[in-house]
Amino acid sequence: MIILVINAGSSSVKFTLFDMSDNKKVLANGLIERIGLEGTSVKYSNHKDYKYQDKVPVKNPQDAVKLVAKFLVGEESGVLKKLEEIDAIGHRVVHGMEKIQKPERITEQVKEAIKECFSVSPLHNPHNLAGVEACEAVLPGVPNVGVFDTAFHSTMPPRAYLYGLPYNLYAEDRIRRYGFHGTSHAYVSRAAAAFDGRPPQNLRIITCHLGNGASMAAVKGGICQDTSMGLTPLEGLLMGTRSGDLDPAILLHLMKLKNLSVQDVDNLLNKQSGVLGLAGVGSSDLRDIEEAADKGDKKCAMALEAYAYRVRKYIGSYIAALGGLDILVFTAGAGENSVTLRAAVLADLEEVGFKLDPARNAVRSPEIRVISADDSRYKVLVVPTNEELAIAEFTQEVLAS
Ligand code: AMP
Repeated sequence: MIILVINAGSSSVKFTLFDMSDNKKVLANGLIERIGLEGTSVKYSNHKDYKYQDKVPVKNPQDAVKLVAKFLVGEESGVLKKLEEIDAIGHRVVHGMEKIQKPERITEQVKEAIKECFSVSPLHNPHNLAGVEACEAVLPGVPNVGVFDTAFHSTMPPRAYLYGLPYNLYAEDRIRRYGFHGTSHAYVSRAAAAFDGRPPQNLRIITCHLGNGASMAAVKGGICQDTSMGLTPLEGLLMGTRSGDLDPAILLHLMKLKNLSVQDVDNLLNKQSGVLGLAGVGSSDLRDIEEAADKGDKKCAMALEAYAYRVRKYIGSYIAALGGLDILVFTAGAGENSVTLRAAVLADLEEVGFKLDPARNAVRSPEIRVISADDSRYKVLVVPTNEELAIAEFTQEVLAS
């Protein structure tokens, strides 16, 4: 089965073509960036080592999908004889609110639901939908499946998803916690359970997705019980440029004190905060912050400590939420690659049940691996995430059902 995965953002389309029947092999992938802007950049490569990179004008998502199709069947670049070989297209969709709680085949009704979530996801859902509509126009007759970031978290109980606000804000306006990165949390928690080998129905797993955006999930028997992001991806951990949890009264105070507009506050919390704001070296990339901290920059060292401390606090609260723990998982850019961050998160927690093996923690590998010591009460794993593959797998499951 051939599945095309599309992740359509505000000005980009990322794509991967999988042959699920051939060991989930990646046949081709690529990225089109700055769509509709000056200097659109196009990158494409296939499994036969063909590589393309150039600036090509691409006006809109439909033209972007046309270009993808051209690559896939091109004389030199192609990996398919004809586009009809594509069995399905899996789309990343960010928000499904309570309207969509699992991966779904895209129908007019599902498109309506994606639209109804525009107000809570104005930066993502409109572009995700544009990607779906572009595929419908360019590849008619190929089924489209939506894989929603929020879906994995839809099993959270009310005690975890309700805010301490008047109940009618939930009942009438659906103001509640939804969570994001669900496709990644689902993928790595499944992979961790399969790797571990104990019966998955009993396993309690905490997943730490630590990338530029960062979130955690508490998972029991494969079912999500709690997660750190909320109505929007701003809540929870300290991130690259987002503040994560803070006293909501700060917004009111700042709006009055500095005469800030709604847009100013939005920018401040989403784009100028997190490690970017705390470290103050003009970068939100933990590699830069770690390097500066190593050279003695105190603010960078403090930003890293604050980042790690927030993860640590959530681990503590999720052990309580799950009534214990079996496996802790690190994933995503920083979770998979930063030896220092993982060590900082779990430093001096032996009495609580975490004992890292420094040599195992120092290993760099694209494989799933154990980094805890054999006598650690809780197992700690690094599980490389693969959201594209997860979307392809969910798409295959939807078609099979
Ligand atoms: P992601 O959003 O999962 O693509 O993760 C990207 C982020 O991961 C980057 O912005 C960095 O902050 C972080 N990252 C990637 N590699 C490393 C590394 N070797 N050490 C520390 N942080 C890293």
